[in-house]
Amino acid sequence: MHRLRPTPSVLDIASRLEQAGFEAWCVGGAIRDALLGGEPLDWDLASPATPDQVREIFGRRRTIPVGIAFGTVSVLDEAGVPHEITTFRRDVRTDGRHAEVEFGASLDDDLARRDFTINAIAFRPRTSEVRDPFGGQDDIKAGIVRAVGDPEQRMREDRLRALRAIRFAARYRFAIDSATLDAIRESAHHLTRLSAERVQQELVKTMQQVDAPSGALRMWRDTGALGVLVPSLGAVDEVALATLDHLARDGAAGRDLPQRTSNRIAAMFLDTPPHQVRAAMSDLRFSKHETNWATHIVERWVRLGPGIGEALGADSVSDADARRWLASIGRLHAGGFLRVADARWQAMRAGGLSAPSSAAVRSLHKRMARGLFSAAVEIGDLAISGDDLRRAGIPAGPIYAKILHALLERVIENPARNTPEALLASLPQVVAALQESPPSAKH
Ligand code: ATP
Ligand code: MG
Repeated sequence: MHRLRPTPSVLDIASRLEQAGFEAWCVGGAIRDALLGGEPLDWDLASPATPDQVREIFGRRRTIPVGIAFGTVSVLDEAGVPHEITTFRRDVRTDGRHAEVEFGASLDDDLARRDFTINAIAFRPRTSEVRDPFGGQDDIKAGIVRAVGDPEQRMREDRLRALRAIRFAARYRFAIDSATLDAIRESAHHLTRLSAERVQQELVKTMQQVDAPSGALRMWRDTGALGVLVPSLGAVDEVALATLDHLARDGAAGRDLPQRTSNRIAAMFLDTPPHQVRAAMSDLRFSKHETNWATHIVERWVRLGPGIGEALGADSVSDADARRWLASIGRLHAGGFLRVADARWQAMRAGGLSAPSSAAVRSLHKRMARGLFSAAVEIGDLAISGDDLRRAGIPAGPIYAKILHALLERVIENPARNTPEALLASLPQVVAALQESPPSAKH
């Protein structure tokens, strides 16, 4: 078992627990990931020591009571990095949402309450002993996600486990054991009992951890879970799902992952009316920032996507087109919008539909990137402001915003017009046109 090499800080913390007379076992995701050949950083420890005893051993100043009710204390290492120590526990009551736990349990009790066999392996650094009562190592070798104990009962205890199983299977390209899969299917229509926060977290983790999330989301859909949890996505189609996989790398060498996750969420909603996107995301308790991001991308996709696609396909994009699109999407969202659009068009092409090539999107992105810094695409970029309108003798009022927008449109058509002289010279004509034009239809 040579791959089980906890970090020096974790070994140090474990040996201090052992010196104080408490067994210290590494448990959970780190063991699983190390056996899969990864190099995990977060090695959670489990021990019979109670939270109070842990705080006594390491001192109050080096410990944070992150989840006392669940028996979890974080211990800070020399560098101030927190490491979790959790008291062995067993569930005394579960209701599909939360568990009530009790201490005074054994390591085997503690492993038995864990969700899947691959997550229920423990390793004790002091003796190098591995405890694996449910055959987790065999399941890792065979590539199987299997519930610990009776799958139906385990899903009933905590419905989130259905989504977790799907995530682990997609993340490691594992199969789901058939009895476990039956229990997941059976769970789908009970998922309303989950809190929005836990569902959101599971969705985000899926987008973050899984290279090709379409498989996971397809399972959410096909088991009925998606329809229950995010009704507006209940019938999400294959192109929308495949788009997620095409948002695989983001930024150089896979950096910028938060952005990838936000873009994947937006991509999932591309066929949903924007007001429903906003509602679905706030129902899932996404932050305002995330909600606005996705809604904006979808809104602009609905408005501009088809036109941009057509123009790129016909290779007939003028500089003025590029500036107009940039002005409408906004500097902040342009990169994300194009990444999502590119992924969507790739998914369409893979599905046999015609759509612009990635090379065409890249070249548009370059043109926009040049425009991002030089061209005027916002009112604030104009060479004159409201003050200049006042000085030109135009009475202040709502007309100012209209005038500035009309000037911006002229500048987007031809950037050479963005000088104070040229803009002021065009004022009489612009104002006259605004006064003549019938009031725009309100909707
Ligand atoms: P990740 O890489 O996503 O963090 P993880 O396995 O570390 O994966 P955590 O959610 O951090 O997952 O949980 C740590 C461990 O706690 C799991 O490996 C599992 O043993 C146990 N666990 C977590 N959630 C549940 C649950 N809902 N039911 C039972 N056991 C769970
Ligand atoms: Mg974890």
